[in-house]
Amino acid sequence: MVTGFYIWNFQKRKWELNAKLIEEEKEANRLKELDETKNKIYTNITHEFRTPLTVIQGLSQKIDGNEVIKEKIQNNSDNLLALVNQMLDLSKMESGVLKFEPVFMDVIPYIHYITDSFSSIAQEKNISLNFYSDKELLKMDLDPQKLKTVLINLIANSIKYTKQFGKIMVSLNQKDQSIIVKVRDSGIGIPENQLPFIFDRFYQVDKRSEGGSGIGLSIVKEFVELMHGKVGVASTIKEGTLFTITLPITALAKEKEFIFPEVVKSKNAAPSLVDEGEKIVVYKKQILLIEDNHDVAFYIKQILKEKYQVDHLLNGKEGLKEAMKTVPDLIISDIMMPDMDGIEMTRKLKDNINTSHIPVILLTAKATEQDKLEGLQAGALAYLTKPFNEEELTIRMKTILQDQEKLQHYFAVHQVLPSSHSLENTFLEQVHDAIHDHLDDHNFGIQELCAKVNLERTQVYRKIKALTGLSTSQLIKDIRLLEAKKMLQKSNKAISEIAYDCGFKDVSYFSKVFKGKFGTTPSKIKKS
Ligand code: ADP
Repeated sequence: MVTGFYIWNFQKRKWELNAKLIEEEKEANRLKELDETKNKIYTNITHEFRTPLTVIQGLSQKIDGNEVIKEKIQNNSDNLLALVNQMLDLSKMESGVLKFEPVFMDVIPYIHYITDSFSSIAQEKNISLNFYSDKELLKMDLDPQKLKTVLINLIANSIKYTKQFGKIMVSLNQKDQSIIVKVRDSGIGIPENQLPFIFDRFYQVDKRSEGGSGIGLSIVKEFVELMHGKVGVASTIKEGTLFTITLPITALAKEKEFIFPEVVKSKNAAPSLVDEGEKIVVYKKQILLIEDNHDVAFYIKQILKEKYQVDHLLNGKEGLKEAMKTVPDLIISDIMMPDMDGIEMTRKLKDNINTSHIPVILLTAKATEQDKLEGLQAGALAYLTKPFNEEELTIRMKTILQDQEKLQHYFAVHQVLPSSHSLENTFLEQVHDAIHDHLDDHNFGIQELCAKVNLERTQVYRKIKALTGLSTSQLIKDIRLLEAKKMLQKSNKAISEIAYDCGFKDVSYFSKVFKGKFGTTPSKIKKS
């Protein structure tokens, strides 16, 4: 009887406990949902701030007359927009959608560019801003967007908290398997007792009326940690502050190597601050926008400028000329324009071997079925009717650019594009033939190839990159290696002779790159 009572009591407690656990879990779920809903509302509202701000920025440029007022409106709306972007970053961090997204690239020119983009603002305050690196080349996994956000926050703070005639130095060193990026300024410094808190969200050092929100450094810390790095700070009041970022050197994304375009490397002029967002981010896809309405162009640029580099021209004739010269990744064009309309321009682009591969999106105020058909027949890939919304444009662009990547994969497998791309195949054939005709000439390189296909270096680079995903020199090497592989399988010649016949002077280099491409050595392929 006593035992029965105990069992009953035990069972009862178990039920009670279970019921409590279920209740707690429900409550936890409810709180989680509430939190998610709050986060969603926060993100949406923050997002909603951007459109009216964009309009304020756009319209303020149109104010004639009082330059001081105009500048004030612009500065304030710039600050507000920066704040809104920071809030969006924060909410993305909270919801855990931010990830480390590395590409393999040379970190030195990238940090140099970011630093240089602040040179005019530093000059305005008579501050000397320099970049120093103890190495010339350092390739590693890098998340360029996040690193950019981190450095922009640190350098902007340094400029903000450094007086006239001060000094700021951004430097990069390698220590063992890490890079150390330092941002050092000779500014007002941070009191020692406040140092432990400056990376906290919304924390601001007392009695400084410099504006700001106290978010910047918390983003710096979270982003650096997302990149598997560490951030530190040292400061002496009235002497200056030093922020140190340590990032591990890894090569996990090596197959996704980002090559600095030849054209960008040769530009040694520092990008101006106004174009900062567009110029420093050299890995961005280039979009050519052809639109004669300034308001629409402005709106589109605002939508795209974070992700893409956008160049804007006012009519079809100029647009066509620019497209031939720079070979952008995608063109967005209005239809109704003076001089040459969008449909005629699309037709001309598609007929030219230089530009035939470039996808075109046409924009129009009112599209009749007839208009649409005409545009699509001319070779446009998509039509957007004004007023279109942001998502409509960005999704279209994303899918079009993804299709282009699929095309590159197709090329990697078949060494030719699908038959629907006949003009592009003609171009690739020309390239192939030119290299093939000079297979044993190891001096035949980019310059000689450009002369053969009658195009300039940048044009060839951008066209080849768009179609194959390879740089010009990579494609030349790939073609030489493919020919070598064929010869190894067919002929009885010695490996060194075949290497030489395919333009490789050095057999050990040949074996190395051969293994890199095919995963096996020439001797294993060789016909026995
Ligand atoms: P804020 O937007 O207020 O600048 P941050 O998170 O970027 O917010 O910085 C937090 C605080 O740290 C700032 O309020 C500022 O007082 C201090 N601080 C940041 N960088 C520097 C610097 N380079 N020199 C002096 N003080 C700095």
